[in-house]
Amino acid sequence: MKKNDLNMDKIISLAKRRGFVYQGSEIYGGLAGTWDYGPLGVELKNNIKGLWWSRFVRNRGDIYGLDAAILMNQEVWKASGHVNGFSDPLVECKKCKKRFRADQLEKNKCSDCGGEVGEERQFNMMFKTNIGANEDSSSISYLRPETAQGIFVNFKNIIDSFHPQIPFGIAQIGKAFRNEIAPRDFLFRAREFEQMEIEYFINEKNWKKHFEEWIKEMREWIEEIGLNKKNIHEYETPKEKLAHYSKRTVDFEYDFPFGKSELYGLAYRTDFDLKSHTTGSNVPLEYYDQEKNEKFTPHVIEPSLGVDRTFLAILCDSYTEEEVNGETRVVLKIKSSLAPFKIAILPLSKKEDLQKISKKILTELKTKWACIYDETQSIGKRYRRQDEIGTPYCVTIDFESLNDKMVTIRERDSMKQDRIAITELKKYFEKKYE
Ligand code: ATP
Repeated sequence: MKKNDLNMDKIISLAKRRGFVYQGSEIYGGLAGTWDYGPLGVELKNNIKGLWWSRFVRNRGDIYGLDAAILMNQEVWKASGHVNGFSDPLVECKKCKKRFRADQLEKNKCSDCGGEVGEERQFNMMFKTNIGANEDSSSISYLRPETAQGIFVNFKNIIDSFHPQIPFGIAQIGKAFRNEIAPRDFLFRAREFEQMEIEYFINEKNWKKHFEEWIKEMREWIEEIGLNKKNIHEYETPKEKLAHYSKRTVDFEYDFPFGKSELYGLAYRTDFDLKSHTTGSNVPLEYYDQEKNEKFTPHVIEPSLGVDRTFLAILCDSYTEEEVNGETRVVLKIKSSLAPFKIAILPLSKKEDLQKISKKILTELKTKWACIYDETQSIGKRYRRQDEIGTPYCVTIDFESLNDKMVTIRERDSMKQDRIAITELKKYFEKKYE
């Protein structure tokens, strides 16, 4: 299938039809910029997060995991610069009063009615709330707009508990909230989303080397989740567009159906954050180098990944339409490590004796792999359903199976079928999923 033939409607419709993603608060007319992940969406999302966590935390010795609170002392956001600076340029149409992000409008005209737009002003994207029963300035808090600050404020805790050697990192997966002026493009720009972030603390003199290492890490991660390299573009942010604290930023962009857009960011943030929190909290956030007997503020490299954008890119990349016997077959050619279900167990009919051996097979296989059991509708329809949700293998139990104790295994992409003994099933999948 050509990339150009793919449009977002197909992805959104499959996501809803098959229980991946629903509109947030749907029965009340929805809530812009929010999405609810259904049973299959949760599985895929958990697989993405699990893979990231294994790769960057569990399988390395130098990155520590963290799960910080979403609500933080408002001083955190003053020190980090978010209270004053985390904003997008906002304009309002003089005619229809609709509001837009100024940098997303063409020719400064309202994209709805074509009217003149007014003066640009800065709109802070943090969701404000109050903590406790008193609603005054001292009780203000914010829903975090990124997970990174939870990491910086725990820098000293990790140093004190683990005494890590530099370079080392702290990783966190969690929700972030931004009051986006114009949420759009399905999961791409939401108001509530998830991030997977690492702050990798380094010695300033080595920043170029570590930055290159992290570019490689990002490429390998993108390969691990199966995105086609051709759809990925690395964008070197020009010096004049860099954030004031960054000396180098590379965006990893993906060719979404609505255009090439940022999937991930990799930024060298210097010592800006640790220094700002040292000033803000009066607690020195430093690293002590025992060999040299000196203290310094580490610099930091930040690979920042959006879970939902990863999810969307995976759906877009793996969505395939094929012509089979004059009919269109929709297949999600997703990596088996990410597939919501690894094996579908499909008894040919609901007859009791078939159910019995099918359930026995299910009980055995589900201890090791995520399985789905389906006995409704014709087998052809069930295969199509499994193709659409990306299940790599279907195990079909037919009447012959009662006699020969063998079942049919159908492979998703090739549709090739194998007949194997029930006693061999576990070994067969162990080999496939090793
Ligand atoms: P954009 O320019 O698209 O608004 P950004 O540069 O502000 O993104 P960062 O602050 O670098 O984004 O956030 C890190 C990552 O978090 C992004 O690369 C993206 O994967 C994800 N992300 C940011 N904003 C959103 C959002 N509104 N919805 C979903 N994911 C998001």
